[in-house]
Amino acid sequence: MKPCRACRHEVAEDAHACPNCGAPRPARQDADAVGFEYRSAARLGALPLLHVRCPRWA
Ligand SMILES: [Zn+2]
Repeated sequence: MKPCRACRHEVAEDAHACPNCGAPRPARQDADAVGFEYRSAARLGALPLLHVRCPRWA
């Protein structure tokens, strides 16, 4: 058991949401880093679209 990142309520380490306050992944201290990785993947996903356009303009 670990304290919830948001409200310090004891939650399971693999809990997907805090049963007390509903925070996502409450046992993880790096939840913001997960969001950063998601945004990075979204940016990388946009690059192939640019590459697809290149042959049409060549
Ligand atoms: Zn909580």
